[in-house]
Amino acid sequence: MSCRMGHMSILGWLSAPTPGRGVWLAGERDGWERVEYAVLAADARAVAADLAARGVGRGDVVAIALPGSRDGLAALYGAWAAGACATMLPVPGYGAGAEYTAHTAAILEQARPAVTFADAESAPLLEGVAQVSEVRRDGVGVETLVEPGGVAVLQFTSGTTRSPRAIQVTWDNIVSNFGVLYRWMEWKDGDGMASWLPFNHDMGLLACVMTAARQGDLWLMRPDQFIRGPERWLSCLGPGKASHAGSPSFGFGYVARRVRPEQWAELDLSGWRSAIVGGEVPDPGALRAFAAAAAPAGFDPAGIHPAYGLAENTSAVTAGAVGRPGRVVRPDWERMQFGEPVHVVETGLLLPPADAVTSEAGDGAGWLAGQGWPIPVDEVEVRIADGEGKPLPEGSLGEIVITGRSVAVGYVGDEPFDGLLHTGDAGFVHDGDLYVLGRMGDSLKVRARTVYVEDLEFKAREAAGLNRLAVVSMSDRGRPGIAVFAEAEPGPWADKVNQALRTELGPDPEIAVIAGEHGLICRTSSGKPQRRVMWQLWSAGKLPGTRLS
Ligand code: ATP
Ligand code: MG
Repeated sequence: MSCRMGHMSILGWLSAPTPGRGVWLAGERDGWERVEYAVLAADARAVAADLAARGVGRGDVVAIALPGSRDGLAALYGAWAAGACATMLPVPGYGAGAEYTAHTAAILEQARPAVTFADAESAPLLEGVAQVSEVRRDGVGVETLVEPGGVAVLQFTSGTTRSPRAIQVTWDNIVSNFGVLYRWMEWKDGDGMASWLPFNHDMGLLACVMTAARQGDLWLMRPDQFIRGPERWLSCLGPGKASHAGSPSFGFGYVARRVRPEQWAELDLSGWRSAIVGGEVPDPGALRAFAAAAAPAGFDPAGIHPAYGLAENTSAVTAGAVGRPGRVVRPDWERMQFGEPVHVVETGLLLPPADAVTSEAGDGAGWLAGQGWPIPVDEVEVRIADGEGKPLPEGSLGEIVITGRSVAVGYVGDEPFDGLLHTGDAGFVHDGDLYVLGRMGDSLKVRARTVYVEDLEFKAREAAGLNRLAVVSMSDRGRPGIAVFAEAEPGPWADKVNQALRTELGPDPEIAVIAGEHGLICRTSSGKPQRRVMWQLWSAGKLPGTRLS
């Protein structure tokens, strides 16, 4: 497929939208507003005309501080119809005015947009840091076509480990990544998608655009709407509705905890074919709880596919193959050592078959979920390398290194990746599946052994019986140590966590257990715990928590 054809297939619908297909936008509390693609295309062309009149086009960046609304979609497709590059900004959360402004200012400094679209909610917070404009979708439309090899999106990383960085993603990268996603999902003509993921996260943006490119129906809600009523997301899935919907693993756990029996009874999830689980280390316990809760509604757990991806590779890297049940392994954590072979003690299925799913399916502490393997297209290759980039023998723990057509150009103002991406993530391959342990920097050395905070987090959650808990490594302070932050009242759980982690880590490392109210755990807009930020804030006395031990 040439670049040009690829680009046309993504935006071709702007000239010839499919009648009857479109986007369903979630109403504030309930109900859905229907916007057909024909209407969206007219909106986008009007936005493009407005941009062109202001001299904005090829080579310019258009920043969009709008949620998944009609204006948000018009601004995105309008920027592209004007030949510009789009960048999606976060939208304000609850009461975080000054923080939002500072965070967005740092993003804008990298993006240097010619125009920033904002709405009544974001505009007042951005006025000091950007020249904001309203979306105007009432003019006569124009459409210039973008350069096929050009940069389509400045995609920002989530900002889990540092402040978000701008990545230049080309049309060609997107075409390649879409090819992978359609194949994973076994996307058929007429399929639809349900998404609550934020626009400024790669998974959220791509979910919208890949659906539009195939002119499928899209059910779109905002993250805060999902949090208030997770059953709304499920209500868009099933026969005659969406067949695909993905989320980080915490979203599946949240649904399992929050959706009530009488709400499950009203759902028919039998047509939900692919549920991609990405963005963070998947928690097998959360996925099992979800599968058990959703089985009576006709959900087939074979649709669950843990996937590994990162913005630097456009989005997706690996996922479990359709029809191949997901695997889990329990490695010998005692002997886990970077650069050395991983000893797998036990293997199993991520989800028992549908008829054997019970709510007692168990949690996943100590187990890792397989992330599948790349679809062999576009020269995609994943290998495991040592600290210097040299490939390690199969089965060893090392850094995940990626090549292929989805590898983005690079960070703005930095050396290009040149098709070779050192992810900074630690992982290993076992029986044809990639297993991701976490970020190499989020680990600590204990008695010559590498311990990953993600694993400690699973163990701490199990010991405490608490979900809202994050483990932070403070090994950079000379002596290795960890801090456990939990959004909970002080209680006997603290000692249980301390004991469990002491067994895990031995006598030396310092273990701090900190309790606080909701909001103690700092998270990115995509819900990932910002471990390093938390530690910095705590050290500076800026996190309201009580140290229990
Ligand atoms: P930043 O780079 O700004 O710190 P981030 O790395 O969280 O933020 P993203 O590109 O959104 O930004 O997230 C990709 C990262 O998320 C991966 O590099 C990896 O660390 C983690 N991740 C994604 N999918 C998985 C997975 N299936 N298992 C484990 N970790 C995952
Ligand atoms: Mg990253």
